[in-house]
Amino acid sequence: MNIVVLVKQVPGTDNVKMDPVTGVMIRSGKDTIINPLDENALAEAIAIKNSHENVKVTAVSMGPESAMKAIKEAIAMGADGGVLISGRAFAGSDTIATAKAIAAAIRKLGDVDLILCGERATDGETGQTGAMIAYYLGIPVATYVSAVEVKEGGVIVKRTVEGGFERVEIPFPVMVTVNKDINEPGFPTLKGKLKAKERAVPVYGPAELGLDPAELGLKGSPTRVVKVFSPKLSRDTIMKKADGTTGPVEEMMKFLAGKEAI
Ligand SMILES: Cc1cc2nc3c(=O)[nH]c(=O)nc-3n(C[C@H](O)[C@H](O)[C@H](O)COP(=O)(O)OP(=O)(O)OC[C@H]3O[C@@H](n4cnc5c(N)ncnc54)[C@H](O)[C@@H]3O)c2cc1C
Repeated sequence: MNIVVLVKQVPGTDNVKMDPVTGVMIRSGKDTIINPLDENALAEAIAIKNSHENVKVTAVSMGPESAMKAIKEAIAMGADGGVLISGRAFAGSDTIATAKAIAAAIRKLGDVDLILCGERATDGETGQTGAMIAYYLGIPVATYVSAVEVKEGGVIVKRTVEGGFERVEIPFPVMVTVNKDINEPGFPTLKGKLKAKERAVPVYGPAELGLDPAELGLKGSPTRVVKVFSPKLSRDTIMKKADGTTGPVEEMMKFLAGKEAI
């Protein structure tokens, strides 16, 4: 059984800044980590590998050359190998161009049964990429998954839905996007780190993926960031004095009612 886990490299901080001119996230000079929900996806893949025969786990990332660190970390945590999608042609990709490139890499790997990824990334946070990859591969997707049980020829997943859970049986190949309730991610081991150091990781560009550069990067991205701005916080303090006939609470209720706030 072949499992692909998507690992996105994200800034290791909540304080993500945007370029106000281009509308693109400023990523340089930041400490980077594997997107936390992708660590959950990876931990699930490794748990499946440890409890079933003949399971191979491949980590796939799209990003600059520095995203190799995310792949190596994934191998150190237990993945068997990885693939990095990288090159100038991919710069400025929106979720559509990203999903097309990742889908092409998965197709190139061939014979993939299960794709696991985070439900959303902490930087872009659209939560669209997993479902879009499934669309481009023409396979089913299960989102918001908090448990995966591998059965003969497919999986049974537990999905978090409004007001409860849903159990769905889906045949392979399938894309599964996971939430944080699925498991506690593990840590890299010393043996894993040594394996990661030695393991060669191929880098795919548009040519290796058979993609036309016009479909990729900014050129292939129909999403336009029209304006980026930080919301301005404005607070006014209004002092209300009771006039002797009413108390402060009544006075405040009158004030809020006047503003149609209650
Ligand atoms: C006009 C425009 C220009 C942009 N330019 C750039 C740019 O120059 N550089 C840049 O880095 N970003 C750029 N972005 C952001 C980029 O489109 C998103 O980071 C990317 O499409 C993923 O979307 P997301 O972060 O919302 O992921 P989500 O959809 O929230 O992520 C869900 C899951 O998908 C998987 N995933 C998502 N992205 C990747 C990835 N790259 N590799 C592996 N797995 C992944 C992960 O498992 C993740 O948990 C741009 C966006 C727009 C709209």
